[in-house]
Amino acid sequence: MVRLRGHHLICLQFYRGEGYNQDFIKHLFNILERVQYEDVEVVEGVDEVCSVCPYNSGNACVYSDSTAELKIREIDELAVRLLSLSPGSKVKWDEVRKKVGGILGTWREKVCKFCDWNKVCGVETRND
Ligand code: SF4
Repeated sequence: MVRLRGHHLICLQFYRGEGYNQDFIKHLFNILERVQYEDVEVVEGVDEVCSVCPYNSGNACVYSDSTAELKIREIDELAVRLLSLSPGSKVKWDEVRKKVGGILGTWREKVCKFCDWNKVCGVETRND
């Protein structure tokens, strides 16, 4: 079982190999391999991606500042709501992928526009 927070369900669909350091990048590719044959559990707060992130401090995201975790949780909640999932849901990666196709316009407008990683992920090249 791969434990992922809301926004990672969407963002990982467009991952193209960028990251904070080599361990983080390797870890993300490993997760992307595992989701091909393991179920995904939707979690609240830090997840398996965050587990090796340099911005994970005491099980909270401190990416921008000490309020980052709260802001990211709001984005997680939006992601989970748009995907018609909820914390604790268990899903197949393929199912998530299909759902993402249907909500991408809203996600681009509400989240990607303000994201620091917008230029290096593959979200703009997908035609949904
Ligand atoms: S920046 Fe924050 S949300 Fe993103 S992986 Fe790191 S700890 Fe997790």
